[in-house]
Amino acid sequence: MARRDGARHTDARRIGVLGGTFDPVHIGHLRSAVEVAEVLLLDELRLIPSARPPHRSAPQVSAMDRLAMVELALAGAAVLQVDDRELKRDKPSYSIDTLESLRAELADDDQLLLILGWDAFCGLPGWQRWDELLEHCHILVLQRPDADSEAPEALRNLLAARSVSDPSALSGPSGQIAFIWQTPLAVSATQIRALLASGKSARFLVPDAVLAYIHAHGLYRGAN
Ligand code: ATP
Repeated sequence: MARRDGARHTDARRIGVLGGTFDPVHIGHLRSAVEVAEVLLLDELRLIPSARPPHRSAPQVSAMDRLAMVELALAGAAVLQVDDRELKRDKPSYSIDTLESLRAELADDDQLLLILGWDAFCGLPGWQRWDELLEHCHILVLQRPDADSEAPEALRNLLAARSVSDPSALSGPSGQIAFIWQTPLAVSATQIRALLASGKSARFLVPDAVLAYIHAHGLYRGAN
């Protein structure tokens, strides 16, 4: 594929993966995704709604509704794509399974970037087969400029061995860790669910099409 950066002289594609419950998708997710896609010159950034997240309580609305909202939010955003593979799987959504299945569809030299917030990254040692993740992807950690960035002991050797200082210099299909500094918008799905449950407006926190869907389907009206 023709490159836009001049720095990567390769036909390999660079594909980012952002998982989440997206219950509902909101402008925090979307702005973050756009910024990462632009800074890293991603060919594609896939938002992957999770079915049964192993690390948290069940989403409040159905997988079908969460998927429909992500689809509405991304309409017309060419680089941002929705990927529904975790919703089709009849098992918990382990990232390692998702990455293996994505990898099986890509060319050998395509780059796969798993995008994680710092907190999620610090919890990595609790993930299923976490030590195999870097066989399939790079890890791009979104770091808040104000974050306390002391990594847990279990990750120190990995960081020392695999970190690269410049995220745009990630090379090869997988195996490295890079950090990108980003100030997240102060928005969360929890906050949006609470607003809606108490009859308040969530306008401008989610795309208008998502809000219309929420109202049309009577979502998030009960207690959260
Ligand atoms: P909840 O409030 O229900 O926990 P959430 O708003 O954190 O949900 P998730 O679907 O859990 O949304 O998040 C998916 C991914 O998006 C996670 O990696 C999370 O860190 C990231 N994310 C969530 N909110 C923001 C935000 N405001 N800005 C940037 N990234 C965000």
